[in-house]
Amino acid sequence: MRITRIETFLVPPRWLLCRVETDDGVVGWGEPVVEGRAETVRAAVGELSDLLIGEDPTPVEHHWQRLTKAAFYRGGPVLSSAVAGLDQALWDIAGKRLGVPVHQLLGGPVRDRVRVYGWVGGDDPAELADAVSARVESGLTAVKMNASGVMGRSATVREIDAVVDRLAQVRDVLGPDRDVAVDFHGRFNAATARRVLPLLEPLRPMFVEEPLLPEYGHLLPDIVRCSPVPIATGERLYSRTDFLPALQAGIAVAQPDLSHAGGISEVRRIASLAETFDAVLAPHCPLGPVALAASLQVAFATPNFLIQEQSIGIHYNKDAEMLDYVVDAGVFAFPDGNIHRTDAPGLGVEVDEDAVRRADRVGHRWRPPVWSHEDGSFAEW
Ligand SMILES: [Mg+2]
Repeated sequence: MRITRIETFLVPPRWLLCRVETDDGVVGWGEPVVEGRAETVRAAVGELSDLLIGEDPTPVEHHWQRLTKAAFYRGGPVLSSAVAGLDQALWDIAGKRLGVPVHQLLGGPVRDRVRVYGWVGGDDPAELADAVSARVESGLTAVKMNASGVMGRSATVREIDAVVDRLAQVRDVLGPDRDVAVDFHGRFNAATARRVLPLLEPLRPMFVEEPLLPEYGHLLPDIVRCSPVPIATGERLYSRTDFLPALQAGIAVAQPDLSHAGGISEVRRIASLAETFDAVLAPHCPLGPVALAASLQVAFATPNFLIQEQSIGIHYNKDAEMLDYVVDAGVFAFPDGNIHRTDAPGLGVEVDEDAVRRADRVGHRWRPPVWSHEDGSFAEW
């Protein structure tokens, strides 16, 4: 069995898929993407393909080592995401070839269902009550929201009060039996984060995400020490070695992205590393169907798993939805707030190849918004 062809597809709203074909007809799918840099990752996948064409796809770890390390320069979002998508496709092929789901190859399932959450409120959250009610009606038992829109690095009293007030509105609708997580998105500074975190604790968020920008990771131990709320981070960390200092700082929740942090192979190891710090896994996934499918395979086989992000109804999905690219949307249904395990082979999702090829002809040029403070200076999004 040899890899004969690797193709990439730039599909709306903002994703990139890859398709790895073999000479005996087994095809694997991956999702190598950095949001806003999809074309850059596409070029990286093209370069990495030189290491795979003509090779036997089955020694996945051997390929991971070569894809990650063979070009001397390594790591970072673009290269790690390119490797991630190819790694997913190789695992998909490995499972399909043997007729088993990937979670079986990872040691077998440790759970029957995976709890998922959905976003509410978008980039600049307002009028949250109706959005939360709609999410609850759709079956979800947990939501995530941004703490704020654009906000001063050193927030004002009014801005801080608004953060608390938004969370209170959401807690009011959810009651005590459902959960809400709050994403700070690194929008304000460490001093403000230290001030805000204790104010949120009475509303019992499941966790607070990215209280700091990743470049301020050296301040994370202080934030964890002063926070009664569990701290989560990791969507902008790309390897075990990136996660180690965050785990040593005492984060409660590790959030690697299956399409950014080296794929199934590396996220599996990040989960194991997190377990040694008594931290749980909540993979980031505001992405498409292959990234979610890969996330679920890891979740089914990972003991220290908390909850999975999924992108149905997320504010970025303007021109297309995750389910537009799958043959059977039922594999991602969450009637009781959980996606249930199946024994479908590989990643467990059948990609609608015609839909993907059609969408690639349209493509996209998605970019994150660029925000400014009132004085015109750059603001974190
Ligand atoms: Mg986030």
